[in-house]
Amino acid sequence: MAAAAESDPLLPPARRASMLMDCLAVLRAVHPPHRAAAIDMGAFRRGLRGPLGPLLPPADASGDRFDALCLFDEQGVLRDAVEDLCREHLVPHPALEGHWSWGRVRAEQEERRLYEILRRLPPEEYRRARALLCEHPAGAVRELRRAWDGLWMRFDFFEAVSDWPWCRLEGWWYPCPVCRWPMRVAARGSTVDVRCEAHAARGVHYRCTPGGHGDGPVPLVGTGRAAVAVQAMPATTEHLALTRPVWRYGTLPTLMELALRDALAGLPHTRVWMWPGTVRPDEYDLHVEVTVPGRRKRVWRVDAKAWESTTALADMLEQRDIPRWALTIVLPDHQEGERHFLTARLRGRRMTVTTVGRLVAAVRAACGAGAR
Ligand SMILES: [Zn+2]
Repeated sequence: MAAAAESDPLLPPARRASMLMDCLAVLRAVHPPHRAAAIDMGAFRRGLRGPLGPLLPPADASGDRFDALCLFDEQGVLRDAVEDLCREHLVPHPALEGHWSWGRVRAEQEERRLYEILRRLPPEEYRRARALLCEHPAGAVRELRRAWDGLWMRFDFFEAVSDWPWCRLEGWWYPCPVCRWPMRVAARGSTVDVRCEAHAARGVHYRCTPGGHGDGPVPLVGTGRAAVAVQAMPATTEHLALTRPVWRYGTLPTLMELALRDALAGLPHTRVWMWPGTVRPDEYDLHVEVTVPGRRKRVWRVDAKAWESTTALADMLEQRDIPRWALTIVLPDHQEGERHFLTARLRGRRMTVTTVGRLVAAVRAACGAGAR
Protein backbone atom coordinates (compact mmCIF):
# COMPACT_ATOMS: atom_id res chain seq x y z
CA MET A 1 0.00 0.00 0.00
CA ALA A 2 2.87 2.36 0.80
CA ALA A 3 4.52 1.50 -2.51
CA ALA A 4 1.24 2.07 -4.34
CA ALA A 5 0.91 5.46 -2.63
CA GLU A 6 4.52 6.33 -3.49
CA SER A 7 4.03 5.46 -7.15
CA ASP A 8 0.57 6.99 -7.72
CA PRO A 9 1.13 10.26 -9.62
CA LEU A 10 -2.51 11.27 -9.05
CA LEU A 11 -2.22 11.30 -5.29
CA PRO A 12 -1.90 14.85 -3.95
CA PRO A 13 1.22 15.15 -1.76
CA ALA A 14 -0.75 15.74 1.44
CA ARG A 15 -2.77 12.59 0.90
CA ARG A 16 0.31 10.57 0.03
CA ALA A 17 1.95 11.73 3.25
CA SER A 18 -1.08 10.71 5.30
CA MET A 19 -1.22 7.25 3.67
CA LEU A 20 2.50 6.74 4.32
CA MET A 21 2.00 7.74 7.96
CA ASP A 22 -0.67 5.03 8.30
CA CYS A 23 1.62 2.43 6.73
CA LEU A 24 4.60 3.46 8.83
CA ALA A 25 2.51 3.04 11.99
CA VAL A 26 1.58 -0.51 10.93
CA LEU A 27 5.21 -1.33 10.15
CA ARG A 28 6.50 0.03 13.45
CA ALA A 29 3.94 -2.04 15.33
CA VAL A 30 5.54 -5.28 14.15
CA HIS A 31 9.04 -4.24 15.23
CA PRO A 32 10.40 -4.40 18.79
CA PRO A 33 10.21 -0.91 20.36
CA HIS A 34 13.91 -0.05 20.13
CA ARG A 35 13.93 -0.86 16.40
CA ALA A 36 10.58 0.79 15.74
CA ALA A 37 11.93 4.07 17.05
CA ALA A 38 14.75 3.93 14.48
CA ILE A 39 12.41 3.77 11.48
CA ASP A 40 11.45 7.35 10.73
CA MET A 41 9.64 8.52 7.60
CA GLY A 42 12.88 9.11 5.71
CA ALA A 43 14.19 5.61 6.48
CA PHE A 44 10.80 4.14 5.56
CA ARG A 45 10.63 5.84 2.16
CA ARG A 46 14.27 4.99 1.37
CA GLY A 47 13.61 1.41 2.47
CA LEU A 48 10.69 1.12 0.04
CA ARG A 49 13.07 1.87 -2.85
CA GLY A 50 15.53 -0.93 -2.07
CA PRO A 51 15.39 -4.63 -1.17
CA LEU A 52 12.83 -5.02 1.60
CA GLY A 53 15.10 -6.81 4.10
CA PRO A 54 16.09 -3.79 6.21
CA LEU A 55 12.44 -2.76 6.69
CA LEU A 56 11.26 -6.18 7.83
CA PRO A 57 11.06 -7.26 11.48
CA PRO A 58 13.71 -9.70 12.76
CA ALA A 59 13.42 -13.12 11.17
CA ASP A 60 11.83 -15.97 12.98
CA ALA A 61 11.74 -19.58 11.91
CA SER A 62 8.31 -19.50 10.31
CA GLY A 63 6.89 -17.97 7.19
CA ASP A 64 8.18 -16.56 3.92
CA ARG A 65 10.80 -13.87 3.87
CA PHE A 66 10.96 -11.11 1.30
CA ASP A 67 14.35 -9.65 2.12
CA ALA A 68 15.48 -9.62 -1.51
CA LEU A 69 12.20 -8.35 -2.94
CA CYS A 70 12.24 -4.94 -4.68
CA LEU A 71 8.92 -3.13 -4.97
CA PHE A 72 10.03 -0.77 -7.77
CA ASP A 73 11.81 -1.40 -11.05
CA GLU A 74 14.77 0.64 -12.35
CA GLN A 75 12.40 3.28 -13.79
CA GLY A 76 10.74 3.73 -10.42
CA VAL A 77 7.54 1.99 -11.55
CA LEU A 78 5.73 -0.32 -9.14
CA ARG A 79 6.55 -3.91 -10.17
CA ASP A 80 3.75 -6.28 -11.10
CA ALA A 81 5.30 -8.74 -8.66
CA VAL A 82 4.03 -6.62 -5.80
CA GLU A 83 0.46 -7.42 -6.74
CA ASP A 84 1.36 -11.11 -7.09
CA LEU A 85 2.96 -10.96 -3.69
CA CYS A 86 -0.18 -9.60 -2.12
CA ARG A 87 -2.33 -12.13 -3.90
CA GLU A 88 -0.22 -15.13 -3.01
CA HIS A 89 1.16 -14.38 0.40
CA LEU A 90 0.65 -12.46 3.53
CA VAL A 91 -1.71 -9.72 2.36
CA PRO A 92 -5.13 -10.77 1.11
CA HIS A 93 -5.66 -9.38 -2.37
CA PRO A 94 -8.42 -6.95 -1.32
CA ALA A 95 -5.65 -5.05 0.45
CA LEU A 96 -4.79 -3.53 -2.92
CA GLU A 97 -8.42 -2.80 -3.71
CA GLY A 98 -8.52 -1.40 -0.20
CA HIS A 99 -5.92 1.10 -1.29
CA TRP A 100 -8.10 2.28 -4.15
CA SER A 101 -11.38 2.37 -2.28
CA TRP A 102 -9.50 4.21 0.42
CA GLY A 103 -8.68 6.75 -2.27
CA ARG A 104 -12.35 6.94 -3.13
CA VAL A 105 -13.31 7.53 0.48
CA ARG A 106 -10.85 10.39 0.52
CA ALA A 107 -12.42 11.75 -2.67
CA GLU A 108 -15.86 11.65 -1.09
CA GLN A 109 -14.56 13.39 2.00
CA GLU A 110 -13.05 16.08 -0.19
CA GLU A 111 -16.36 16.49 -2.01
CA ARG A 112 -18.21 16.79 1.28
CA ARG A 113 -15.67 19.33 2.53
CA LEU A 114 -16.17 21.37 -0.67
CA TYR A 115 -19.95 21.46 -0.30
CA GLU A 116 -19.75 22.21 3.42
CA ILE A 117 -17.65 25.28 2.67
CA LEU A 118 -19.94 26.29 -0.19
CA ARG A 119 -23.04 25.86 1.98
CA ARG A 120 -21.73 28.29 4.58
CA LEU A 121 -21.52 31.06 1.96
CA PRO A 122 -24.34 33.59 1.55
CA PRO A 123 -26.39 32.79 -1.60
CA GLU A 124 -24.71 35.49 -3.70
CA GLU A 125 -21.23 34.24 -2.85
CA TYR A 126 -22.31 30.64 -3.31
CA ARG A 127 -23.33 31.43 -6.89
CA ARG A 128 -20.09 33.28 -7.49
CA ALA A 129 -18.02 30.38 -6.12
CA ARG A 130 -19.85 27.90 -8.33
CA ALA A 131 -19.20 30.05 -11.40
CA LEU A 132 -15.53 30.47 -10.43
CA LEU A 133 -15.11 26.67 -10.22
CA CYS A 134 -15.78 26.68 -13.98
CA GLU A 135 -14.21 29.94 -15.05
CA HIS A 136 -11.00 29.83 -12.96
CA PRO A 137 -10.16 26.24 -11.96
CA ALA A 138 -6.45 26.65 -12.76
CA GLY A 139 -3.92 29.29 -13.72
CA ALA A 140 -1.30 31.72 -12.49
CA VAL A 141 -1.70 32.38 -8.78
CA ARG A 142 -1.84 36.15 -9.38
CA GLU A 143 -4.79 35.82 -11.75
CA LEU A 144 -6.57 33.26 -9.59
CA ARG A 145 -6.26 35.47 -6.56
CA ARG A 146 -7.66 38.42 -8.47
CA ALA A 147 -10.59 36.38 -9.84
CA TRP A 148 -11.47 34.61 -6.58
CA ASP A 149 -10.92 37.84 -4.67
CA GLY A 150 -12.78 37.72 -1.32
CA LEU A 151 -13.30 33.97 -1.64
CA TRP A 152 -9.59 33.22 -2.13
CA MET A 153 -8.61 32.80 1.50
CA ARG A 154 -11.67 30.71 2.31
CA PHE A 155 -11.13 28.34 -0.56
CA ASP A 156 -8.02 26.25 0.06
CA PHE A 157 -8.62 23.71 -2.69
CA PHE A 158 -5.69 24.64 -4.95
CA GLU A 159 -2.45 22.74 -5.44
CA ALA A 160 0.71 23.64 -7.38
CA VAL A 161 0.72 22.20 -10.92
CA SER A 162 4.44 21.56 -10.42
CA ASP A 163 3.47 18.78 -7.94
CA TRP A 164 1.54 16.90 -10.63
CA PRO A 165 3.88 14.91 -12.90
CA TRP A 166 0.99 13.54 -14.98
CA CYS A 167 0.21 16.90 -16.60
CA ARG A 168 3.75 18.24 -17.10
CA LEU A 169 5.58 18.22 -20.41
CA GLU A 170 9.07 19.71 -20.46
CA GLY A 171 8.11 22.18 -17.77
CA TRP A 172 4.76 23.21 -19.26
CA TRP A 173 1.11 22.26 -18.80
CA TYR A 174 -1.91 22.66 -21.08
CA PRO A 175 -5.39 23.72 -19.92
CA CYS A 176 -8.37 21.88 -21.44
CA PRO A 177 -10.27 24.25 -23.75
CA VAL A 178 -13.57 23.09 -22.19
CA CYS A 179 -12.91 22.88 -18.44
CA ARG A 180 -9.60 24.83 -18.26
CA TRP A 181 -8.10 22.23 -15.92
CA PRO A 182 -4.71 20.61 -16.75
CA MET A 183 -4.83 17.97 -19.47
CA ARG A 184 -3.18 14.59 -19.02
CA VAL A 185 0.15 13.98 -20.76
CA ALA A 186 0.87 10.35 -21.74
CA ALA A 187 3.96 9.19 -23.61
CA ARG A 188 3.27 6.81 -26.48
CA GLY A 189 6.58 5.77 -28.03
CA SER A 190 8.24 8.85 -29.51
CA THR A 191 5.03 10.91 -29.47
CA VAL A 192 3.01 12.19 -26.55
CA ASP A 193 -0.79 12.25 -26.23
CA VAL A 194 -2.33 15.22 -24.45
CA ARG A 195 -6.01 14.99 -23.56
CA CYS A 196 -8.61 16.05 -21.03
CA GLU A 197 -9.77 13.02 -19.08
CA ALA A 198 -13.32 14.36 -18.95
CA HIS A 199 -13.55 15.81 -22.43
CA ALA A 200 -11.45 13.50 -24.61
CA ALA A 201 -14.67 11.72 -25.61
CA ARG A 202 -15.90 15.05 -26.98
CA GLY A 203 -12.76 15.43 -29.07
CA VAL A 204 -10.39 17.28 -26.73
CA HIS A 205 -7.17 15.44 -27.61
CA TYR A 206 -3.84 16.41 -29.10
CA ARG A 207 -0.53 14.86 -30.08
CA CYS A 208 2.97 16.26 -30.03
CA THR A 209 6.62 15.32 -30.43
CA PRO A 210 8.79 16.50 -27.53
CA GLY A 211 12.37 17.66 -27.89
CA GLY A 212 14.00 20.34 -30.02
CA HIS A 213 11.79 23.21 -28.91
CA GLY A 214 14.32 24.99 -26.69
CA ASP A 215 12.80 26.50 -23.57
CA GLY A 216 9.43 27.03 -25.21
CA PRO A 217 6.46 24.73 -24.89
CA VAL A 218 6.08 21.70 -27.16
CA PRO A 219 3.48 22.71 -29.80
CA LEU A 220 0.33 20.56 -29.81
CA VAL A 221 -1.36 19.24 -32.93
CA GLY A 222 -5.10 18.75 -32.51
CA THR A 223 -6.30 15.21 -33.21
CA GLY A 224 -9.92 15.61 -32.06
CA ARG A 225 -12.81 17.68 -33.37
CA ALA A 226 -12.80 19.91 -30.26
CA ALA A 227 -9.03 20.33 -30.19
CA VAL A 228 -8.86 24.10 -30.60
CA ALA A 229 -5.55 25.89 -30.02
CA VAL A 230 -4.59 26.12 -26.35
CA GLN A 231 -1.91 28.18 -24.71
CA ALA A 232 0.75 26.30 -22.73
CA MET A 233 1.40 27.52 -19.19
CA PRO A 234 4.60 27.13 -17.16
CA ALA A 235 4.35 24.25 -14.66
CA THR A 236 5.78 26.19 -11.75
CA THR A 237 4.76 26.62 -8.14
CA GLU A 238 3.22 29.92 -9.30
CA HIS A 239 0.59 27.98 -11.24
CA LEU A 240 -2.19 26.32 -9.28
CA ALA A 241 -5.14 24.11 -10.08
CA LEU A 242 -8.15 22.92 -8.12
CA THR A 243 -7.62 19.52 -6.49
CA ARG A 244 -8.82 16.59 -8.51
CA PRO A 245 -11.95 15.87 -6.38
CA VAL A 246 -13.02 19.51 -6.57
CA TRP A 247 -12.54 19.50 -10.35
CA ARG A 248 -14.48 16.25 -10.67
CA TYR A 249 -17.30 16.93 -8.21
CA GLY A 250 -17.40 20.73 -8.41
CA THR A 251 -16.21 21.94 -11.82
CA LEU A 252 -17.51 19.14 -14.07
CA PRO A 253 -21.15 19.04 -12.83
CA THR A 254 -21.32 22.83 -12.87
CA LEU A 255 -20.14 22.84 -16.50
CA MET A 256 -22.90 20.34 -17.33
CA GLU A 257 -25.48 22.56 -15.66
CA LEU A 258 -24.28 25.64 -17.51
CA ALA A 259 -24.39 23.69 -20.80
CA LEU A 260 -27.96 22.62 -19.99
CA ARG A 261 -28.97 26.17 -19.20
CA ASP A 262 -27.52 27.36 -22.51
CA ALA A 263 -29.21 24.55 -24.46
CA LEU A 264 -32.60 25.47 -22.95
CA ALA A 265 -32.21 29.26 -23.24
CA GLY A 266 -34.77 30.94 -25.47
CA LEU A 267 -37.18 28.01 -25.69
CA PRO A 268 -40.85 29.09 -25.74
CA HIS A 269 -42.84 28.90 -22.47
CA THR A 270 -39.65 27.86 -20.67
CA ARG A 271 -37.95 29.48 -17.72
CA VAL A 272 -34.54 28.31 -16.52
CA TRP A 273 -32.49 29.50 -13.59
CA MET A 274 -29.35 28.40 -11.82
CA TRP A 275 -28.87 27.77 -8.11
CA PRO A 276 -32.44 28.70 -7.24
CA GLY A 277 -32.46 28.10 -3.49
CA THR A 278 -32.28 31.13 -1.24
CA VAL A 279 -31.90 29.35 2.10
CA ARG A 280 -29.80 26.43 0.90
CA PRO A 281 -28.80 27.08 -2.69
CA ASP A 282 -27.13 23.68 -3.01
CA GLU A 283 -30.28 21.61 -2.59
CA TYR A 284 -30.37 21.43 -6.35
CA ASP A 285 -28.66 23.45 -9.02
CA LEU A 286 -30.88 24.12 -11.98
CA HIS A 287 -34.58 24.88 -12.04
CA VAL A 288 -36.52 24.36 -15.29
CA GLU A 289 -40.19 25.27 -15.67
CA VAL A 290 -42.35 24.84 -18.75
CA THR A 291 -45.73 26.58 -18.66
CA VAL A 292 -47.74 26.04 -21.83
CA PRO A 293 -51.19 27.74 -21.65
CA GLY A 294 -53.93 25.18 -21.07
CA ARG A 295 -51.51 22.47 -20.00
CA ARG A 296 -50.18 21.30 -16.68
CA LYS A 297 -46.98 23.05 -15.60
CA ARG A 298 -43.85 20.90 -15.87
CA VAL A 299 -40.96 21.38 -13.43
CA TRP A 300 -37.49 19.80 -13.33
CA ARG A 301 -35.24 20.28 -10.31
CA VAL A 302 -31.89 19.25 -11.65
CA ASP A 303 -28.78 18.00 -9.87
CA ALA A 304 -25.99 17.12 -12.33
CA LYS A 305 -23.47 14.44 -11.31
CA ALA A 306 -20.17 13.68 -13.03
CA TRP A 307 -19.01 10.65 -11.05
CA GLU A 308 -16.86 8.11 -12.84
CA SER A 309 -18.54 5.20 -11.04
CA THR A 310 -22.33 5.16 -10.98
CA THR A 311 -22.12 2.42 -8.33
CA ALA A 312 -20.27 4.77 -6.02
CA LEU A 313 -22.70 7.56 -6.95
CA ALA A 314 -25.65 5.31 -6.02
CA ASP A 315 -24.00 4.51 -2.66
CA MET A 316 -23.60 8.20 -1.95
CA LEU A 317 -27.15 9.18 -3.03
CA GLU A 318 -28.65 6.35 -0.97
CA GLN A 319 -27.06 7.81 2.13
CA ARG A 320 -28.64 11.20 1.55
CA ASP A 321 -31.95 12.28 3.08
CA ILE A 322 -34.89 11.87 0.75
CA PRO A 323 -35.22 15.28 -0.96
CA ARG A 324 -38.12 17.64 -0.28
CA TRP A 325 -38.93 17.72 -4.00
CA ALA A 326 -38.64 15.20 -6.76
CA LEU A 327 -35.07 15.56 -8.05
CA THR A 328 -33.80 14.88 -11.55
CA ILE A 329 -30.27 13.48 -11.44
CA VAL A 330 -28.54 14.29 -14.73
CA LEU A 331 -25.61 12.20 -15.96
CA PRO A 332 -23.21 13.00 -18.83
CA ASP A 333 -24.40 11.56 -22.16
CA HIS A 334 -21.63 8.94 -22.21
CA GLN A 335 -23.21 7.33 -19.10
CA GLU A 336 -26.48 6.73 -20.99
CA GLY A 337 -25.98 2.97 -20.56
CA GLU A 338 -25.89 3.27 -16.76
CA ARG A 339 -29.12 5.26 -16.43
CA HIS A 340 -31.33 2.23 -15.75
CA PHE A 341 -28.95 0.81 -13.17
CA LEU A 342 -28.98 4.06 -11.20
CA THR A 343 -32.76 4.46 -11.55
CA ALA A 344 -33.26 1.01 -10.06
CA ARG A 345 -30.89 1.72 -7.18
CA LEU A 346 -32.72 4.97 -6.33
CA ARG A 347 -36.28 3.65 -6.49
CA GLY A 348 -38.46 5.12 -3.73
CA ARG A 349 -36.09 8.05 -3.07
CA ARG A 350 -37.89 10.75 -5.15
CA MET A 351 -35.08 10.83 -7.68
CA THR A 352 -35.26 10.13 -11.39
CA VAL A 353 -32.21 9.71 -13.57
CA THR A 354 -31.63 11.07 -17.06
CA THR A 355 -28.80 12.37 -19.25
CA VAL A 356 -28.05 15.86 -20.57
CA GLY A 357 -29.29 14.98 -24.08
CA ARG A 358 -32.46 13.30 -22.82
CA LEU A 359 -33.37 16.17 -20.54
CA VAL A 360 -32.96 18.71 -23.34
CA ALA A 361 -35.17 16.55 -25.58
CA ALA A 362 -37.81 16.20 -22.83
CA VAL A 363 -37.96 19.95 -22.20
CA ARG A 364 -38.13 20.71 -25.94
CA ALA A 365 -41.00 18.25 -26.32
CA ALA A 366 -42.84 19.71 -23.30
CA CYS A 367 -42.64 23.29 -24.57
CA GLY A 368 -43.50 22.35 -28.15
CA ALA A 369 -40.11 23.28 -29.64
CA GLY A 370 -39.71 19.86 -31.24
CA ALA A 371 -36.53 17.90 -31.77
CA ARG A 372 -33.30 19.66 -32.75
ZN1 LIG B 1 -11.76 19.24 -19.82
